Amino acid sequence: MLPVAAAEAIIFDLVPACDRLTDDPNSIGKNPPVEIVDLLASAGRILAAPVTGKLDFPHWDNSAMDGYAVHYADVEHCSPQQPVVLKVVEEIPAGKVPQVVVQRGEAARIFTGSMIPEGADAIVIQETTQQDEGDNPLEHSIWILEAPNSRDFIRHKGDFYQAGANLLEAGIKISAPEVAILAAVQCTQIPVYRPVKVAILSTGDELVIPDQVLQLGQIVDSNQYALAALVQQAGAIPIRLGIIPDRPDLLREAIAKAVAEADIVLSTGGVSVGDYDYIDRLLTELGAMIHVKSVAIKPGKPLTVATFAGEPKAVIYFGIPGNPASALVSFWRFVQPVIKKMSGLADDWQPRWVEAHTQQNLRADGLRESYLWGRVHLYEGQYQFTPAGGSHSSGNLINLSQTNALAVVAIGTTLIPAGASVRVLLTQN
Ligand code: AMP
Ligand code: MG
Repeated sequence: MLPVAAAEAIIFDLVPACDRLTDDPNSIGKNPPVEIVDLLASAGRILAAPVTGKLDFPHWDNSAMDGYAVHYADVEHCSPQQPVVLKVVEEIPAGKVPQVVVQRGEAARIFTGSMIPEGADAIVIQETTQQDEGDNPLEHSIWILEAPNSRDFIRHKGDFYQAGANLLEAGIKISAPEVAILAAVQCTQIPVYRPVKVAILSTGDELVIPDQVLQLGQIVDSNQYALAALVQQAGAIPIRLGIIPDRPDLLREAIAKAVAEADIVLSTGGVSVGDYDYIDRLLTELGAMIHVKSVAIKPGKPLTVATFAGEPKAVIYFGIPGNPASALVSFWRFVQPVIKKMSGLADDWQPRWVEAHTQQNLRADGLRESYLWGRVHLYEGQYQFTPAGGSHSSGNLINLSQTNALAVVAIGTTLIPAGASVRVLLTQN
């Protein structure tokens, strides 16, 4: 029985062996680790090549406010008692290219986003100005009542980004801000990593699909759906291969099909030491290399992790125990990081931990690293953990609803008292 940390190290290290990634941008479309998608379709995907922009941001000096573009030297000493009067020589709405060079004693009416006219080096906001009464609208004057800070309210060309510098790195997840940035730099065909494919199969003679009438002794294959939902949330594509009875011939066939179709295979059930637990034997027969056989974790001890080497791709196989809570805990603890790492994320694929104060006593047998599900929330800057009420049996699925975290009780510890600090794995992104 491997300690959890050792199992984690072995499992996470398997990913480079199954690496689909390449930093050669010329490999786009080949053997396809990378595909090109439209801008909007890139949201939620992992960027496969760095992006640089051809333009400075801002593209040109522009105004951050509505007001007047002026010579700073004209207005630097003005005040409500000693206003300065300037002649307005041009109006520059956003989108218009200024036509006039602003001379000393002159101003240009300007709006947020408008180009700064030549000559001007400061913006006076309109709130600190007063229009000359009885103006001729074509040639009027403006009273400046307050001196601006010299650089105030001008967004200078290249202030935010200079053309040619790295803008977005490969290996980041594209979300709304990145979509906006890609649009702004006119990058509309986005190279992203192909999503990881995850085959899911449920093993067990007792299992039926949800809309079948249950006979005595049968249970619904809930794992298939839980895992498919989790796979999808992790940004991968679930391939549901259904229920396979506890028969070695059918299981062998199903595993071979799963390995052929997917990058990762998840099977539930059949990895324990029972008479009908065939998975490990079949994996060996099919040529897989088994890296992990059981882990000192509760729930989820009978976890088998294996790899199939080979062309065109290597495959990681997780034989997960069938108990519904074990299946979820195994996924959150070991499978989700592997999916994320394999998906091309450069960082941020690791499990997410926080330190929390537990609101209630947390009890465990001390023999295995125990994971207790519950909710964390922030209270006055400190994470608080409340375990779910009811049984924390691995067979109990019901009280996992609305949980967002797993509190960890270490081997050798049987009680973490209320108020004490506990390490908590976040299960919701
Ligand atoms: P096993 O790991 O095959 O020994 O199964 C352990 C327990 O989990 C048994 O009570 C099974 O009935 C239950 N179980 C196995 N597979 C599933 C599944 N796909 N969905 C829900 N429960 C399952
Ligand atoms: Mg079984």
